[in-house]
Order: sequence, then C-alpha cells, then structure tokens
Amino acid sequence: MSPRKVDMDEIRKILKYIDEHGLYPDIKLISSPSGPEQIINGKKVISFCSNNYLGLAASEKLVNAAIETAKKYGVGSSGSRLLSGNLDIFEEMENEIAKFKKSEAAITFTAGYMANVGTISAVANLINISAFSFFARKTLIFSDELNHASIIDGCRLSRAKVIVYKHRNTDDLERKLRRYRNHRKLIVTDSIFSLDGDIAPLPKIVELAKKYKVLTMVDDAHATGVLGKTGSGSAEHFGLDKEIDIKMGTMSKALGASGGYVAANKDLIRYLRISSRAYIFATAMSPITAGAVIAAIREIKENTALRERLWENTRRLSDGFKRLGFYTFNSQSPIIPVLIGDEQKAIQVAKTLFERGFFAPCVRWPAVPKGQARIRVTVMAPHSAEQIDLLLKEFEKIKKELNIV
Ligand code: PMP
Repeated sequence: MSPRKVDMDEIRKILKYIDEHGLYPDIKLISSPSGPEQIINGKKVISFCSNNYLGLAASEKLVNAAIETAKKYGVGSSGSRLLSGNLDIFEEMENEIAKFKKSEAAITFTAGYMANVGTISAVANLINISAFSFFARKTLIFSDELNHASIIDGCRLSRAKVIVYKHRNTDDLERKLRRYRNHRKLIVTDSIFSLDGDIAPLPKIVELAKKYKVLTMVDDAHATGVLGKTGSGSAEHFGLDKEIDIKMGTMSKALGASGGYVAANKDLIRYLRISSRAYIFATAMSPITAGAVIAAIREIKENTALRERLWENTRRLSDGFKRLGFYTFNSQSPIIPVLIGDEQKAIQVAKTLFERGFFAPCVRWPAVPKGQARIRVTVMAPHSAEQIDLLLKEFEKIKKELNIV
C-alpha cells in the first residue's frame, strides 16, 4: 500500500467518526447582506449569530465608501506592503486606527488571526542581533486558558514557553508570575472572550504587569466599537489607555469590514513591520477594506446612538435568558452563550430554532469542553425589541419541549 493511501485512510477514518457522531458542522449558505434579517439556506430568518455588532457591514455609508475606494484604487493591493503594495489609503487607515485607539501608531494585517499570530510570534521571539544567540533572553508568555485560537497559535509559533493561567483568575496569574522573576514576560488576554462573552479583569492584570515588569497585550476583537465611551475598546472602558502596551483588535466585527490591527508605541509598530512574518509575507488587504474601515471608525465616533442601542439590546436579551432560567456564563457583552450542556441536545436546539426562523448556532466540543455545548447568541444594534422577544419566546418553548434544565 502506498504511504499516500495510508494517510488518506486515516483521514477518512476521522471523517467517518465525525459523521457518525453527527459532529460535522452544518454550514449554512447566506444569500443576503449581513443584518438582523437574512436569507439563509433559501429561507428568511432572524439572525442572532453575527459579529457585525453595530450593523455597519452592509450599511450605506460603508458600502458607498467601498465603492468609491474601488473606483480610485481597484480591487487588489497587488503585493506585500514591504515590496509593492503599500497604498496611501493603508497609511490613512492606520493613522485613523491609532487615533481611535489613543496610541502613537498602528499596523494592520489582512486578518485578525494574522494580527495575533504575526505579533505574538514577533514580540516573543525577538530578532537576534548578537553573535551570542545562546545568551539571548527567552520570553515567557502568560496566557488565559480561554484565549482565542489565534493567540494560542501565535504563542506556539513564537516557540516561547507558554504558561496558561486559569480563566480570568489573577491570583493564579500572580502565583505563576512570581515563579519567574528574571525572564522577559508577556501577558496576553482577550478582553471580551469570544465564546463566553465575559470580560478580562484588565485593571488587576495591569497592576500585576507593573509589579512584575511584564509587557501586556489585549485582544479587543469583540470590544472594538463595543466598549468605551467613544467605542475605542476595553482600554478606554477601564481607563487604561496608557497602561496596555499592545492593543490588538479586528476590523472584522463591529467595524463591519475585515482585517486585524495592532496599536502601540511607534517603536513597537516599526519593529513589527520588519519582524512580523504575517505582515511581511502576505499580500496586503484589499484597498476596499481600508476605505470601509476608515468610514466605520468615523461612524462609530459620530453615531454614539448605535452603541447605546447595542447595549440596550444586550440587556434585554441577557435579562430575558436569566428570567427563563438559562445559564449564560457570566456574559457581560453582546455575546450571550446559552448553556445547553449535552452536545446532541444543543445540536437539536439550534436545529429547532432554525426550523422556526432563527439562526443561532451551536458551539460544542472541541471548540468548548465536552458537556458545555451552548447556543452562542450574539445581538446587534439594529435588532428590534420585538425580534429579541420572539427569540426569547422560542427558547422558552424549546426548553419545555426538549426538557432542558
Ligand atoms: N481574536 C478573537 C478574540 C476573535 O474572536 C477572532 C475571530 N473570531 C480573532 C481574533 C480573529 O479575527 P479575524 O476573524 O478577523 O481573523
């Protein structure tokens, strides 16, 4: 038997297991713009599954900005920023992001995933300029156990030693920091956790970072445009703009476009431009995206009512689930996970919801621990109170029908 055949046999065996256990994801086909109502699998449904928190992704302002940008620059960026694709609109976007994040400078990546992978690997594995690489100081990374996969992958790629601390547990973090006094250290955490919807205790983390002289990096993917007085994110929310060293985030969620950014001091950004492989060796994003991002930041700054609506809707939905007796994992954000527990039951809940006109997906092992399967509900500013109440009513019915405790 050829080695190729053996490899494919193993892959088919895994697929068979996944199929037999009904674990292969049911990926829906969407044929309408992002928003509270969508055509999914050919059917009109109310969607509670989008990271487009402010409803900007298909808004007139962003679409027009994208069209105007396409007319001026075309569609593709034609190359890596370093070699051939550094359009002036990218620099304009990065200046806007830096101002928005109250940082000296910003760098952008084609995806948020790449921002994390490209930044952590570069910061935790510095370019060696000494002839004696043996003496180069190694970095330790302290990472929350529920950090996003892109943070985990960035840590792996850096080849640094990773010390995982218990979720949001600063006592555990301090215990671990204390053990390694003489190392170069980085603490990295999501601000709003993507599957649990809770928020990292950033004031305490910053306090520990000062005490133990540690660099801090915060992933604001779900907090950008959502937290803070001007929508700038978690640092603004907690009054820590000067304290957090590396503010990572994405333009793919509340900003309604795509891509990732890192905002920090000028030197760190200059360093990333020459050390981050995800930045150096990838074609830059489409200029259309940059045009849309600039328009999104302006809209977020000017239209504070959008954020107010988002939080009003978040409270309505979150309070509603609690009233119905569902556990929502300490959610403090528009990400409201509803615990079902059993994998098969959670699949059944998502399926029933969809049949009845609601799209709210089930998240289960291996994305979350076994027995913690959940419906990950996300709410948007443009949802109406009526749409939220309809979803709650459906959950109430399904709870009885499927005997969910
Ligand atoms: N960080 C977090 C916390 C995320 O939730 C995500 C996206 N799910 C990313 C990073 C990656 O961002 P992107 O989807 O823009 O690549």
